[in-house]
Amino acid sequence: MNRFTWRALACMAPLVAACASQPAPSVTPGDTSFPPGAERAYAALATQFDRDAAMETVAFMQQFWRIAANPGFNASIDHIRERLAKSGFQSGGTKTAPFVRVDEFPKGQPGWDYTAGTVWIDGEETPVLSRERDRVSLAINSLSTAGADGVRLRLIDVGAGTGEKDYAGKDVKGAVVLGDASIGRLWQQAVRARGAAGVISTEIARYIRPSDPAGMSDQQRDVLQWGAIPYDPKLTSFGFKASWRTGSRLREALARNPSATVRVQIQSTFYTGPNRTLVAEIPGRTRPQERIVLAAHVQEPGANDDASGCATLLGIAQAMAAAVARGALPPPERTLTFLWVDEIAGSRHWITTRPSEARGVQYMFSMDMTGEDTAKTGGAFLIEKEPDPTAVWERPSDPHSEWGADEVKLETLKGSLLNDLHIAVANRRARDTRWVVRTNPYEGGSDHTAFWSAGVPSLLNWHFTDRFYHTNQDTIDKVSAAEMENVAAAVGTSAYFLASASEEDAVVAVALLERAADARLALERRQGRELIAKATDKAAAERTEQQVIAAWKAWYSSAFDTVGRLPVTAAGATLSRAIDDAKKRVAAQ
Ligand SMILES: [Zn+2]
Repeated sequence: MNRFTWRALACMAPLVAACASQPAPSVTPGDTSFPPGAERAYAALATQFDRDAAMETVAFMQQFWRIAANPGFNASIDHIRERLAKSGFQSGGTKTAPFVRVDEFPKGQPGWDYTAGTVWIDGEETPVLSRERDRVSLAINSLSTAGADGVRLRLIDVGAGTGEKDYAGKDVKGAVVLGDASIGRLWQQAVRARGAAGVISTEIARYIRPSDPAGMSDQQRDVLQWGAIPYDPKLTSFGFKASWRTGSRLREALARNPSATVRVQIQSTFYTGPNRTLVAEIPGRTRPQERIVLAAHVQEPGANDDASGCATLLGIAQAMAAAVARGALPPPERTLTFLWVDEIAGSRHWITTRPSEARGVQYMFSMDMTGEDTAKTGGAFLIEKEPDPTAVWERPSDPHSEWGADEVKLETLKGSLLNDLHIAVANRRARDTRWVVRTNPYEGGSDHTAFWSAGVPSLLNWHFTDRFYHTNQDTIDKVSAAEMENVAAAVGTSAYFLASASEEDAVVAVALLERAADARLALERRQGRELIAKATDKAAAERTEQQVIAAWKAWYSSAFDTVGRLPVTAAGATLSRAIDDAKKRVAAQ
């Protein structure tokens, strides 16, 4: 995941209090609108997650900066495959028993990794940047420096470094340019446009660290967010991301000596092997061509992002296979597909190279940043909903996360049961564990995006705001086994339920959806009145509120239709009547 837009700021303006993401509507004990099939799946799976095994996988993966085709990425794929094989997933495809395989495909750009990336201020012993201390300070695609001891280069501070004025009167050709702009922008300005040897960027998302040093903790003075420069083997250049403390040391050195120099020593390697996707399946018994897909991305260096998602997904696959093997659950009727991918690229490859399987995908769950110990990282567990009207209109009740948001057009919305069902299941878990479950509108940036673009109802299980997001401090001490277990219990239950639901379950799901529709329409009318009251152009605000209500009614109408396709047996008269009645009642509201 990687993005920031102005819209997060816009959310701040009118309704600050409402910006903390919304608690999901709760499920009360004995709630008749909780499908019995989901309750059975929950009972069979909720206590089967192996916390130690999950933490062992996180510990293994966090050693590596995993980038497709590099050794760390491949070792992580092999690590998970071995554990699946030990849990009964046979190698090679079979039509009836759980199996595991690796799909290989060409990777556009070579993989990359590095063994040394060090910068010294000349005359100082201690490096100001090093792999040993900052783990991910060297930017992806940086090339090795010549010579065993590296190269000595002038250091030039350009302030932000975003425009002409920052370079006026400065000869940066062949120098190391220090700036506060994003590393990509700084590289374009300094290396591509002006022939600098490399750049050092101090840029960081504002939700990771306050901009005023007085407000920074010691940990925040040393935090940096990793980055990448464009792959260009012709330009033997490099980039570093620097913490606030490192940026200050470099600027203090220049203040002492305006013609200060640095020594840079880099040893990096590019890997031309294939990209790889690890695929595991529990074949469906009666509807094997229909699938529920769960995916986690392998690449990136973080323990939470996304070693935790990979470990949680492994735990779900193992718990499901074990529950079926010991007879606690019957084999699913639809196929359960587990994917460990290079984010988005791997999902797209699976969708495009297996069109007949992709056409049968009913629902998809993305697992990205599932293990945050929120006492340390901040934030909360979030269900990023499949796009619904809250992704089209900014609603006080459904604020975006600080990560940002993409534009979603009204005409692209297609209602389904997925959001409300999964929220109800997550709250079933919260009832047992006091788990904090929140939701946010669709924002994109993970594998649910690839499946949603292919027309599959998809959602994301993640945590935000994680103040160690994409940083050198996203390490295993910030990962909670209990949190991964909560996510596994919820996602495992929802996925198994969707692969096995009965007609009776579907009739109950209609009631669940209708409760959600009632609550949503009441909420929208209530906040709509407040928005109109605050609006300067009341007529325009009225029109917007009418559109919002109409959009929700249309959304729930198609969501009810998806319940008709939920049971693994053909929908009978009882279900069809329940759906028709519910659609009429909601439309009439
Ligand atoms: Zn991620």
